[in-house]
Amino acid sequence: MALTSDSEFLRAWLGGHDVPCPVCGYNLRGLPAGVCPECGNSLRLTVTAISSKRWSWPIAIGTLAGMAAFQALLAVSMVTSWLAGASIADLWADLLVSGIMLVVIAGYLHVCIKCRRAIRGARP
Ligand SMILES: [Zn+2]
Repeated sequence: MALTSDSEFLRAWLGGHDVPCPVCGYNLRGLPAGVCPECGNSLRLTVTAISSKRWSWPIAIGTLAGMAAFQALLAVSMVTSWLAGASIADLWADLLVSGIMLVVIAGYLHVCIKCRRAIRGARP
């Protein structure tokens, strides 16, 4: 049977694919109608260009991992300094840098999570 309407194409596409709702992320696989049952938004199939943002998400996650690795090295350095008998002023300075780094990492993680759809871009 030939597909003749947009809603038939949408239903046929969703019948065989795990696709998150672009608004709420609900899995639309097998959806019988063009409305997300979770958030109520109407859906339609579209044609889009392959995004140049393909590597944005891996870069964002890689940057986050790099910052976390730096934080881990800083923690090891603090413990090593403490065991070697560093002055309390040095330890407080390390602790301050570590605290600032944790706040930066938490902020970056928050932005990545909030903007993940925009960072990931359209998927082919
Ligand atoms: Zn939805």
